[in-house]
Amino acid sequence: MLDQAKITQLSNRPVPDQDHFIDGRRSAAALGGRLEVISPITATPLTHLAEGSAEDMARAITSARRAFDDGRWARQTPAARKAVLLRLATLIEGEALELAVLGVRDNGTEISMAYKAEALSAAQSFRYYAEAIDKHYGQVAPTAPDVLGLVHHAPVGVVGAIVPWNFPLMIGSWKLAPALAAGNSVVLKPAENASLSLLRLAELAVEAGLPDGVFNVVTGKGSVVGEALALSPDVDVMVFTGSGATGRRLLEYSARSNLKRCYLELGGKSPNILFHDAPDLDKAIASAANAIFRNAGQVCVAGSRLLVEESCAEEVIAGLAARARSLRVGDPLDVTTEVGAVHSAAQLASNLRFVERALQEGATCRVGGGALDLPSGGYFMQPTVMAEVRPDSHLFQNEVFGPVLAVTTFRSEAEALALANNSTFGLAAGVWTRDLSRAHRMVAGIRSGLVHVNTYGGSDMTVPLGGHRQSGNGHDKSLHALDKFYDLKTAWIQL
Ligand code: ADP
Repeated sequence: MLDQAKITQLSNRPVPDQDHFIDGRRSAAALGGRLEVISPITATPLTHLAEGSAEDMARAITSARRAFDDGRWARQTPAARKAVLLRLATLIEGEALELAVLGVRDNGTEISMAYKAEALSAAQSFRYYAEAIDKHYGQVAPTAPDVLGLVHHAPVGVVGAIVPWNFPLMIGSWKLAPALAAGNSVVLKPAENASLSLLRLAELAVEAGLPDGVFNVVTGKGSVVGEALALSPDVDVMVFTGSGATGRRLLEYSARSNLKRCYLELGGKSPNILFHDAPDLDKAIASAANAIFRNAGQVCVAGSRLLVEESCAEEVIAGLAARARSLRVGDPLDVTTEVGAVHSAAQLASNLRFVERALQEGATCRVGGGALDLPSGGYFMQPTVMAEVRPDSHLFQNEVFGPVLAVTTFRSEAEALALANNSTFGLAAGVWTRDLSRAHRMVAGIRSGLVHVNTYGGSDMTVPLGGHRQSGNGHDKSLHALDKFYDLKTAWIQL
């Protein structure tokens, strides 16, 4: 159980204004600008970040390039890189609660989730790729006997990473850990209003022994520093998690600059499909609620469309409504809170517009639907269940990124599959059935990167996570994630 007294004490500490982290140390913005960070918990100013300019970004990229080219990290043995990354994992674990609280203060995730999904999961990522890197072999090709064909894994060079605000440490580490393990240098651009834990991570990395310049963090606006990073001819690969609109821009920046590879994770509108023969309906209902309400729905794999077989729909909707009403929405720094803050005023307004439009398009609101005014101030929303959501409606087709569940019914397996695939996204899905053959048919038929069966959410480092269709390309997690950070290099040797 998390220590509430310690959390409260940590959350009362003032957060000093933050500079970038470039070339192994904190570094002020060249133009001296500052960005205000607003607490989602109180809607009041929390601290300021350095407002980066193209000049700051250029300095960070130059530092990363120099660090890569002189081999201070890339040419260390895999065993030496492993030792540094394992030390980093241990440092993260030692400071896990501090990191989690810091992250919650600027992003609003409930602490019970952030502690595990942010801090501890970041440590796991570093440990996993540290352990992987000295077991990752090149290949000898099956050539004719008078030739030796060697396939090497060469680090790509400088990796640019842009991450969002919902799980900055976890998503950041999914990208950083394999990129660094493979020997690359990284320039990271966190989200404007969720940079604090990643800035601290950079300090811990240097403490763990990562050479200066190998990992740089530049804060500021996406349209300024994010764009400068993705347009740079000195960045070899971009990795990104965020919106489809920004993902499209990254591809344009790549085309306009050096054709760098871009790996994009772009969210989803994931179907959670409940057949009447689900093995445990109560468990399915509780899981469906968690899949959309935890972290106030601000989860890229959120099960945001519930497709439910008509014969059990009313029972399921009633169960969901009861569950939604019973969830404890509130201060994310209270360990008993089940649904934390909505990240910003803009996100809350957008969530409410989705509800309003869904009502206009014929859906009914079974529970919730509004903002919650709490004594702390801040941005909070009632867990919301919208039923009779038509497949052609805005709510069915678009990602809310809030605690709003869209429920649609079906009568047959074929109809369920057609509804599931009636989306431009393809990130995650869930299927609840006791029929094993049906489960396999659905896994095969659903066009998405991850299909849960008789559960929703929860996975570990051993499996890849990546989108199909407009949910993106490339993979985070597992050994497959390393592929993004290598170039294959062939040596063709005539004997
Ligand atoms: P979200 O809706 O999750 O905020 P965004 O795509 O807007 O998604 O933001 C994800 C990340 O992309 C953030 O770090 C943001 O600063 C960055 N970003 C936003 N616009 C741009 C841009 N034009 N170029 C590069 N990065 C950007």
